[in-house]
Amino acid sequence: MYQIPRGTRDFLPEQAARFRRLEEIAVALASQYGYGELRTPIFEYTELFARSVGESTDIVEKEMYTFQDRGERSLTLRPEGTAGVVRAFVENKLYNGPLPAKYYYFGPMFRYEKPQAGRYRQLWQFGVELFGAAGPRADVEVIALGWQYFQELGIKATLVLNSIGCRQCREEYKKALVAYLQGRKTCKLCADRLERNPLRVLDCKEESCQRELEEAPRISQYLCPQCREHFERVKSGLSALSIPFTQDDRLVRGLDYYNRTTFEYKTTELGSQDALGGGGRYDGLVELIGGPAVPAVGLALGIDRTELMDPPALRREPRRRGVWLVTMDPVTDEAIALAHPLRRQGVYLGYDLEGRSFKAQFKQADRNNCRWSLIIGPDDLSQGQAMLRDMETGEQRPLALENLVELVSQLEGVK
Ligand code: AMP
Repeated sequence: MYQIPRGTRDFLPEQAARFRRLEEIAVALASQYGYGELRTPIFEYTELFARSVGESTDIVEKEMYTFQDRGERSLTLRPEGTAGVVRAFVENKLYNGPLPAKYYYFGPMFRYEKPQAGRYRQLWQFGVELFGAAGPRADVEVIALGWQYFQELGIKATLVLNSIGCRQCREEYKKALVAYLQGRKTCKLCADRLERNPLRVLDCKEESCQRELEEAPRISQYLCPQCREHFERVKSGLSALSIPFTQDDRLVRGLDYYNRTTFEYKTTELGSQDALGGGGRYDGLVELIGGPAVPAVGLALGIDRTELMDPPALRREPRRRGVWLVTMDPVTDEAIALAHPLRRQGVYLGYDLEGRSFKAQFKQADRNNCRWSLIIGPDDLSQGQAMLRDMETGEQRPLALENLVELVSQLEGVK
């Protein structure tokens, strides 16, 4: 027996339909906000992620699917969407076009994580990236888009907000944090982080670290006047749109490229996997990847967890739809030839492929949740008529074969 790789999932039709719906709603929303789709490859050169996500992040250190191709190039399945979009933005010189430029993506990402409910090795994200707007209004627009997505789905999410400052204020803060934590009891990992990436200590889940952090210096005390002003305007912008948020000055997010605004959408309904999505500003990344200095802000929403929340907007009453052709040899092929053009009219049409009995065919009609059965027997054919059965009421009536396609395609519930 072959087994699916650990941390991946098959989507059977019902669940696949829910994912498709989540994508449709995301795409409609992104278009409404003026974002165009940008599709990048599923893999990129490893160096891109190492550089942009950051060498000392969990993703790059231990979660990437990295392999050598036959040309001995090191490639990596994308663990997130931003790096590829920024690479495409620079490589296609999109910065020469009108700014701000807005792009969205929807697709699978790959992370070698320990699988559990809500945490997979192939996961789906919907993301948007907005380039060329430095002001707080851009942050607010991006955050509002994510907020609206969860609202439209009927999901209760909370918004958590922080500012991690610019390079200058963050350097000051890092020094203070390191000075404070030195000699204190942190976990082994954090002792290492302290040297390589001290901000990561802030979102360590270990209780000992959390305890030590209670009295630690807070980034909000270290913001320079410009960063402080930016953050205040993001908050007032969100309030003006009636988007509630809480502030958490430990929210640093696991990727290196952020500056100033960071945010996360959270839920209390999924246990420890409480993040539904997040994002932030990344003003230095375009330059880091070899482009000009172009400010940017974006978000990524986790579609697997969004679906796990069982969004009310996806709960639809299953309704009967379409037509099931019920027929018998020797006229089956002829009957199919008559009914088949219904498909070109957009009608949902199904029929038995294996010569089953009348009774079995009606069962199929029912199992396939068809609204109508169209019965064409040998006598019907010679008399130029078919029988139409309403699967809701059980009523039957004759139908002239001559106008079959026209008559059936106008019935209720066939499309
Ligand atoms: P990130 O940018 O890493 O915060 O990811 C954005 C969102 O993607 C998270 O808030 C999660 O909802 C989702 N996500 C991240 N990693 C996984 C995973 N391994 N499995 C399922 N969803 C994930």
